[in-house]
Amino acid sequence: MKAWLECISCKKTFDGGDQRFSCDCGALLDVKYDLSHAILDKQEVASRSSASGVWRFREVVHPLAEKVVSRGEGNTFLYSSSRVSDFVGANVSLKHEGENPTGSFKDRGMTVGVTEALRQKAKTVICASTGNTSASLASYAAMASLKCVVLIPEGMIAYGKLSQALAYGAKVVQVQGNFDEALALVQALSAKKGYYVLNSLNPWRLEGQKTIVWEALMQLNWSVPDWVVVPAGNVGNTSAFGKALMEAKELKWIEKIPRIAAIQAEGANPLYQTFTSGLDELIPVEHPETLATAIRIGRPVNWQKALRSIKDTNGVVEQVSEQQIMDAKSVVDAAGIGCEPASAASVAGAKKLFENGVVKPGDSVLCVLTGHVLKDSEATVNYHQRQLEGIESTFANAPIQTRADLASLGRALL
Ligand SMILES: *Cc1c(COP(=O)(O)O)cnc(C)c1O
Ligand SMILES: [Zn+2]
Repeated sequence: MKAWLECISCKKTFDGGDQRFSCDCGALLDVKYDLSHAILDKQEVASRSSASGVWRFREVVHPLAEKVVSRGEGNTFLYSSSRVSDFVGANVSLKHEGENPTGSFKDRGMTVGVTEALRQKAKTVICASTGNTSASLASYAAMASLKCVVLIPEGMIAYGKLSQALAYGAKVVQVQGNFDEALALVQALSAKKGYYVLNSLNPWRLEGQKTIVWEALMQLNWSVPDWVVVPAGNVGNTSAFGKALMEAKELKWIEKIPRIAAIQAEGANPLYQTFTSGLDELIPVEHPETLATAIRIGRPVNWQKALRSIKDTNGVVEQVSEQQIMDAKSVVDAAGIGCEPASAASVAGAKKLFENGVVKPGDSVLCVLTGHVLKDSEATVNYHQRQLEGIESTFANAPIQTRADLASLGRALL
């Protein structure tokens, strides 16, 4: 299948081999395919035995790929948990993207993005990151023998993620500023140095992330849920999911389109503000704050694509409090599944939408868990030890201390 790039605003097209991330008019680009002639049978695709849940869909992810850089990403588990469903109120399944090789969905984007970087003959790849993007890029770059530079907001990323970027050998630069400032620097530097940018403004990354939704639909035997609920930070997933669903309809894989619900933290809610304002320009948040550091973003680069997804799917944007995020996380964790704080925004959001009557009793809800429980162990331990400032540890499971004798242990366990 052929692929090319198309401006999301003025619709100008560019060759699929071009190395560009925006149109001359400034808007972002989509990867486009001619799907009207495509015969891609969903049962055939599902029956492929593929080590990668991304490259299973190769024709509609990156048909121009040459040397594929893969770590067997995707093929993540779809959980159903009565505990989580009871908490939310509706019928929830959980797509656990923390089960990717580096512990977040970013791997689905990176396998495609780094494959494209090789095709572009890049020597150095770069990203700004709230943590997981850098962990993922550092790994895929090392596998592809590319140099890797990552810019992270100083003191604002979880330790597990920082440790991965260092371990995988990336050059890690801690910027004295927030994510949005780091991303602006990445774009300026790469324009000067020719570094290949792997933030989600890279259209190829989003092609990989589409497979989260396709794979979940496949696991649901192509029965379409009423809702797809996703945490929203730089809103790449929100963008990719809408594209995935519209393409799935065009490919005749599904007939009905589920509604997308994008969930933001109250302290980092630019998409929510923009959506509720009804205006056609981004309302940024200058000082985004949330302990869900993966979604601590004030100027989401994909906001136009994300709003298109919301519109195309008759979706909604909702916001949740820190308390709601941590309570949802502790329920997902205690169900034995586990996730990082930002991931739990989806479950917290589903619950809020249910309580507000937007999600109806009996609705089937697909919540995406974006990252692994070990990514931010500090937040988890602090929650259970009642040490998170401003948060009530509703479901605390604090460790018990005892002297080292049997009688004391017996008393401690009473
Ligand atoms: C990157 C990330 C997000 C935000 O995803 P966007 O596509 O930028 O909205 C959410 N959760 C986790 C764990 C992440 O790593
Ligand atoms: Zn344009």
